[in-house]
Amino acid sequence: MAGGKVYLVGAGPGDPGLITIKGIECLQQADLILYDGLVNPLLLQHVSSAVERTCRVEVGSKNRRMLQQDEINQRLIAAAREGKIVVRLKGGDPFIFGRGSEEAVALRNAGIDFEVVPGITAATAAAGYAGISVTHRAHASAVALITGHEDPDKTDSSLDFEVLAKFPGTLVFYMGLHKIDHIVNSLIQAGKSKDTLAAVISRGTTPFQKTVQTNLSELPESVRQAGLVAPSLIVIGECVSLRDQIAWFEQKPLFGLRIGITRSWEQSATEIKFALKSGAQPVLLPTIEIGPPRDWKPVDDAISHLDKYQWLVFTSANGVQYFLNRLWEIGFDARRLAHLKIATIGPSTAEALNAYHLRTDLIPSHYRAEDLAEALKPLVGQQKILWAGANRGREVLQRELAEVSATVDKVVVYENHDVKAWDSESINLLESGEVDWIGLSSPSIARNLSRLLSDKAREQIGKTIKLASISPVTTQAAREVGLQIAVEAEEYHWEGIFAAILKQQSST
Ligand code: SAH
Repeated sequence: MAGGKVYLVGAGPGDPGLITIKGIECLQQADLILYDGLVNPLLLQHVSSAVERTCRVEVGSKNRRMLQQDEINQRLIAAAREGKIVVRLKGGDPFIFGRGSEEAVALRNAGIDFEVVPGITAATAAAGYAGISVTHRAHASAVALITGHEDPDKTDSSLDFEVLAKFPGTLVFYMGLHKIDHIVNSLIQAGKSKDTLAAVISRGTTPFQKTVQTNLSELPESVRQAGLVAPSLIVIGECVSLRDQIAWFEQKPLFGLRIGITRSWEQSATEIKFALKSGAQPVLLPTIEIGPPRDWKPVDDAISHLDKYQWLVFTSANGVQYFLNRLWEIGFDARRLAHLKIATIGPSTAEALNAYHLRTDLIPSHYRAEDLAEALKPLVGQQKILWAGANRGREVLQRELAEVSATVDKVVVYENHDVKAWDSESINLLESGEVDWIGLSSPSIARNLSRLLSDKAREQIGKTIKLASISPVTTQAAREVGLQIAVEAEEYHWEGIFAAILKQQSST
């Protein structure tokens, strides 16, 4: 068949950083992605193709299958026959309790080309993030991966608890939370000491990871008291004792907090990383969408007449990217800019420039248009400046620099549009107060947030949801639309927003 192929890819256990490089490459090339309920949707950042979810997990209850296995197989086969590159993205490793091998057999029988890209399975990942090493020189020389939930069509269990009770190492049960009493009782009856150390790790490697650690006989009751939910792993063995010394993930500074990121989806990659790095869950609440300009002609004209200008000014990383990508696309390269001085509004914009091996000549000491204008004033008298910016934005540069007889030509290199409405999932999270913080990084974002909030969600602001503003200008804009700001960044970038949240959290 012409060109179609299926990649059975392991997405890792939850932390979106725990996918393989090969897995990411597959996502980037794919025409269609079918992903299951355990896959972290943040992974879909790497994707520009069509995406379909085959199964939804409702935390605390059983998986609700949206597509039956046969239907998934048929979908994979049909798409590959159309010549598509299909990624079947599965939580953890596709061949560990993942039915990946059933899909592989169906593909082989249908004559479809496929590859398997293994993933990090929940046992090693969740245990590692909980400070439990499933093998250990002194405590465990073997590890068993066991399913607590067998095929419902099977008449008798293939789990031999007599054998498992004697197993010389760590036992890890997948899908066992709802059968924890049965598992624990069966092991004890079969002779496993009731004092054996044991743990349950819920939602491992995510900001909602919770671990309960006790001895075997007390495990079911402790798990109920702690209210642990699926997906969870049961880990039984002396290796659990190491957790006291090596637990690390649950101690991260913003662990478990949900932080709303209000920038456009395309711009949020760094903020998502910040959130995850400090143990928080990024909640994507984009208020604006970014796209190319409606008309490239003015940009192309400006690029053709760059010799008219002495300065090139960027006030956002987007401006840098759209302008320089366009310059390249229409056949030029960096030499076109050789005679120009470059000014940037702040460090993130300057960093965007570095990616093109260009350096900025000027960054103001504060990252606002007014400060940029002040810094430029002594340098640009009588000169011509090209400002590569967005369709919206304040006219500060033109006005201020006219005072020193500099001319600022603004060219729109990307457009900024308001998001019309959020999906119901985001609205529910806000209305039920399941977001702890929302970061606001510009006045227009503050106004947009106010517009997008439902009445019920607005009531949560100041109660369960706190707002963190990037700068005094943004704080002012928020106040004007009736939004109360809890903290303001000392440095005017997203890192500053996270620092302000951290400071507030550690003082409470
Ligand atoms: N293929 C997956 C497992 C799928 S079976 C893998 O290799 O990890 C689903 C079970 O995996 C869940 O019931 C739970 O026992 C376990 N699991 C998956 N993700 C988990 C997580 N983040 N934390 C704890 N257990 C997890």
